[in-house]
Amino acid sequence: MTATPPADRRPRTSLVFDPTVAPPPPPPPPRGFRRILHLAWPERWTLAFGTFFLLLGSVMGLAAPKLIGGLVDGMVEGGGTAAIDRAVVVLVGVFVVMGVATALRAYLFTVAGERVVADLRTALYRSVIHQEVGFFDGERTGDLTNRLSADTTVLQNAVTVNISMALRFTVTILGTVIILVWMNWKLTLAMLSIVPVVAVGAALFGRMLRKLSKQVQDALATSTSVAEETIAGIRTVRAFAQEGLEDARYTEAVDESFRLARKRAVLYAGFTGLITFFGFGVIAAVLWLGGRMVVGGEISFGDLVSFLLYTFTMAMSLSGLAALYADFAKAIGASERVFELLDREPEVAGGARTLARVAGEVSLEGVGFRYPTRPDVPVLTELNLVLRPGEVVALVGPSGGGKSTVAQLLSRFYDPDQGALVLDGVPFTDLDPDWLRRQVGVVSQEPLLFATSVRDNIRYARPEASAEEVEAAARAANAHDFISEFPEGYETLVGERGVRLSGGQKQRVAIARAVLKDPRVLVLDEATSALDAESEHLVQEALDRLMEGRTTLVIAHRLSTVRDANRVVVLDGGRVVEEGSHEELLALDGLYKKLVERQFAA
Ligand code: ADP
Ligand code: MG
Repeated sequence: MTATPPADRRPRTSLVFDPTVAPPPPPPPPRGFRRILHLAWPERWTLAFGTFFLLLGSVMGLAAPKLIGGLVDGMVEGGGTAAIDRAVVVLVGVFVVMGVATALRAYLFTVAGERVVADLRTALYRSVIHQEVGFFDGERTGDLTNRLSADTTVLQNAVTVNISMALRFTVTILGTVIILVWMNWKLTLAMLSIVPVVAVGAALFGRMLRKLSKQVQDALATSTSVAEETIAGIRTVRAFAQEGLEDARYTEAVDESFRLARKRAVLYAGFTGLITFFGFGVIAAVLWLGGRMVVGGEISFGDLVSFLLYTFTMAMSLSGLAALYADFAKAIGASERVFELLDREPEVAGGARTLARVAGEVSLEGVGFRYPTRPDVPVLTELNLVLRPGEVVALVGPSGGGKSTVAQLLSRFYDPDQGALVLDGVPFTDLDPDWLRRQVGVVSQEPLLFATSVRDNIRYARPEASAEEVEAAARAANAHDFISEFPEGYETLVGERGVRLSGGQKQRVAIARAVLKDPRVLVLDEATSALDAESEHLVQEALDRLMEGRTTLVIAHRLSTVRDANRVVVLDGGRVVEEGSHEELLALDGLYKKLVERQFAA
């Protein structure tokens, strides 16, 4: 599968890129509440023990009203204080067991839930970092980090205490109903008349709540993205004095999520209030009907007290269950954002082949390419280019002509739509992608360093490299001297994206990283263009050393680099328009000559 036509890519990606797009195609695994339960499956034994203590606690809780009713009847009938003493001792015993069971239940369920969420987070993160590069073109970092943090947190409540509480309330409700029927079925029947009302209300509210919840999480993610961009780009914000604008942008995003959350709060409040009213309204009904029965001598006063206490217990559980139901609806809405990302399959599939020896011949054969996020703009068309082993080829052309895109294809960040890239006669798509990326090194204009030490940044290419190897790489990259001058040497922290280093220093750390990687094929994408003359000299020297013996594609903006290349290729409008040595191309008097006059004028 060399070419994935863009038409094939779009529907799949739009599922994630644009959540407002109409119904997605049928999703494979179970959704909603069942999916959440599915997540809890690995914790089934912990949950089973938790459930045991839950049932124990609930049974004890159910015994209490009966005991209290007996106590009351004892008082009314005047059987002496000894009976009361005995009853209270039994009651306290019941409460002790209840307390212990409750503690164990809470612990077991909570731990199980936390573990489920931790596993979910790691699985989601794994899914995110394995997505193809094109996926990230269409996503905002803030949105993705929000799914990892905020959205999974919403789920945390659903799979932790809530499952245990819901079980407890359900058991209590079922238990009380059975006891109530057994005590007095007439009264119970009158009481249960509210069930249909509650059920219909719950179904309606649940659906609305789910939708709103997803919207709230979406809005929240948008505001996080805004904050993320602003903070990462604080220098630009400050330079243009746009704190006010950014403030307004963030406030607006937060306001939007607040508005939605308030709507959700109204719904939530209305629902739980209504259920609470119905639940406790039943007590009035029982008092009315039961009072008449006591007066008529049908039941004893103690019976009515027990019955009322059971009804009260049930009403409490019912309103608790309603609140939980609302919580679940919220969580399911939010979890959709987690699951759609978790289930996403990365586009770039890999072969499994590796080559024992790499000569380093790379060719692009009739390559056509469009970026997945902009499928109607062809960037490369019918591009043919051969890099022979050890050869240095300079790639020049007007800005936006697709030079960096060639570099990205060589790293196999994307696959071409037409044609193929080939290493030593083997198509990229047949090769193991991780192995392939080890053979290709890219040094770009904007090196990206991580917020760790200089050493760790260099070692990123090969984490098992020894201190000597790291130092040798740094020397080759002209980086050892400036690194040694730092008080902390190789342990110096470079700051986020390397902000604590100068441009030339960053670039030399990046080159040291490439030296350590020791790739057969090297791509230099305007690696010195952002530098001043002084550091450019140091960097260029390092690059020359790095290029030795490797197949190199230099995307160049300096005449000197181009002149030294074995061959120059001029890229325009996504295809090769001129090719030859510097002198040959000058003699052609075409685009290259114009570029030399305009771009390389010095
Ligand atoms: P060059 O390096 O020759 O200046 P590029 O290869 O960076 O040009 O870009 C070629 C074209 O592809 C440009 O029109 C640019 O807007 C577009 N482009 C570059 N990167 C992306 C991307 N990630 N998503 C969509 N379009 C892109
Ligand atoms: Mg470029």
